[in-house]
Amino acid sequence: MAVIIDGNKIAQDIREEVRQSALELKKQKGVIPGLAVVLVGEDPASQVYVGKKAKACAEVGFLSREYKFPSETEEEKLLKIIKKLNKDKLIHGILVQLPLPKHISTEKIIAAIDPYKDVDGFHPYNVGSLITGNPLFVPCTPRGIMELIFRSGIELAGKEAVVVGRSNIVGKPLALLLLAQNATVTMCHSKTKDLPKVTGRADVLIAAIGKPRMIEADMVKEGAVVIDVGVNRLENGKLTGDVAFEEVSAKASFITPVPGGVGPMTIATLMKNTLDAARRSINS
Ligand code: NDP
Repeated sequence: MAVIIDGNKIAQDIREEVRQSALELKKQKGVIPGLAVVLVGEDPASQVYVGKKAKACAEVGFLSREYKFPSETEEEKLLKIIKKLNKDKLIHGILVQLPLPKHISTEKIIAAIDPYKDVDGFHPYNVGSLITGNPLFVPCTPRGIMELIFRSGIELAGKEAVVVGRSNIVGKPLALLLLAQNATVTMCHSKTKDLPKVTGRADVLIAAIGKPRMIEADMVKEGAVVIDVGVNRLENGKLTGDVAFEEVSAKASFITPVPGGVGPMTIATLMKNTLDAARRSINS
C-alpha cells in the first residue's frame, strides 16, 4: 500500500517557513513582500483562486493588492497597469490570472511583466532560462511538485520519469525540472501510441491530463511514485484526479491524493516565489 503524500501538511510547512522568512526580511531590511494579482472578467473559478491568493498573502504577512477589471477591458489599459506595477517599489510579484478574455493577447500581457516580478514564471525570459537551467522563477505547480518529491525523500537520479501532459504551465516545465535532477524523462500527450506501455515503465509517473481517473492500475509499475496533478469536477460535485486513486495506491510506493496533494502546493509555492522576488529586489 502506497504512502499517501500529504500536500496539505507540506504546503502548510512551506507557508510557515515563508512567514518566518518574511518576518526576518521585515526586521532586517524593512522590506514586506508585495504581490499584485490582476483579474479580468467574472469567471467564478478565477475569482475563487484570486481570493485564495489574497488569503495566503495575509497569512504569511505579505502585502497583497487585487486589480479587478470587467471582461470588456481593453488590452492597452491592462498593459498600462502592468507597466505601472513594474515600477511600483512595494510590489515584488505580479500575477495575471489566466485565462484572459479572448480579445486580449495573453502572450503580450505576460511579456509585458518585468521578468524579475514574474512570480508565475510564464515570461519568455523565465521559460527560456528554465531550459538553460537558471530561471528567476519556476512556474508554481511544477515547482510545488518538485518540493513534494524532495520532502518525501524520493531520489530522482537515474529514475525513469514519465510525464503525461505537455502544457506550458505543468507538463513541459516539470519535465525540465525532472531532467535537471538527472531523471530519464519521457513526455506523453494525446498522440502518444500505446500509453500504458510507456507509463508502465515509469519509476515516477506524473499525470497532468485533466481526464478523471484515466491512469488505471494496469498502467502503473509496481512500486512507482505517482503524482496526480489533475483536478476534475464530477457530476456529483466531487473533485477527482487523473488517477484511479484506490486501485493505483495498492500498487504504488507513493501517491498524491486529490484533493490534498498537488493543489495546496501551487499557492504555497506562489508565496515562496514572491518571497524570492522581494529578496532579489534588495540586491538589485
Ligand atoms: P491542458 O489541457 O493544457 O493539457 C492537458 C494535456 O494532457 C495535453 O498535453 C494533452 O495532450 C494531454 N492529454 C489529453 N488527453 C490525453 C490522453 N488521452 N492521453 C494522453 N495525454 C492526453 O491541461 P493543464 O496542463 O493545464 O492541466 C492538466 C490538469 O491539471 C487539469 O486537470 C488541471 O485542472 C490540473 N491543474 C492543476 C493544478 C493544481 O494546482 N493542482 C494547476 C494546473 C493544472 P495534447 O497536448 O496532445 O493535447
